[in-house]
Amino acid sequence: MIVAIDGPSGTGKSSTSKAVAAKLGLSYLDTGAQYRAITWWMISNGIDTDDADAIAAASGKPLLISGTDPSDPTITVDGADASGPIRTQEVTSKVSAVSAVPEVRSRITELQRTIAADAPGGIVVEGRDIGTTVLPDADLKVFLTASPEARAARRSGELKGADVKATQEALVKRDAADSSRKTSPLAKADDAVEVDTTELTLQQVIECVVTLVEEKRAAK
Ligand code: C5P
Repeated sequence: MIVAIDGPSGTGKSSTSKAVAAKLGLSYLDTGAQYRAITWWMISNGIDTDDADAIAAASGKPLLISGTDPSDPTITVDGADASGPIRTQEVTSKVSAVSAVPEVRSRITELQRTIAADAPGGIVVEGRDIGTTVLPDADLKVFLTASPEARAARRSGELKGADVKATQEALVKRDAADSSRKTSPLAKADDAVEVDTTELTLQQVIECVVTLVEEKRAAK
């Protein structure tokens, strides 16, 4: 059972994907964490994140390893725990530029396909291009949306009181960059089920996706 969950930032992708995977006994992969980790490596190694050629040349160097247990997802870069550093403001502001470089995408896409193929029993993979590009044959594709106001309110809550207006501007900017890049942009797959989470609680979104997976399982 392969489940692809895509959508812009702040729609509840991570919380939903982890909970659905835990509930159904599936593995879990946060692909945003992988792009953040490679961005952190570029910054730490003095690579100019606005220089696409330099990023492309270095894209094969870091060793990224993702742990896929939904109750304890991990990410290491060259053996070092990257889970804290990948959430900094600096990484968040630079990740769209790094993730737009085709060499970065092809390397990480290959890694994602290997992880999904090796997951015993199946996996929930969350990201921006999972249903369209990484796993186009997924059993279920879900595209989560929410109003920019709701997304900013959720994200600033997670960031413990960050300014909602500034958070909304940063989210809208990142989504615009992710949606307009040439290689595998943020997009809904034609066969994805769209769920607008604006008026839903996290619990309701989880239940909705669990039901969709169970329906697919029954039909298999
Ligand atoms: O989901 P998260 O906010 O952690 O993603 C960080 C960034 O990683 C996104 O803004 C996007 O630039 C990139 N990303 C991507 N493709 C994915 C997942 C994330 O380009 N499948």
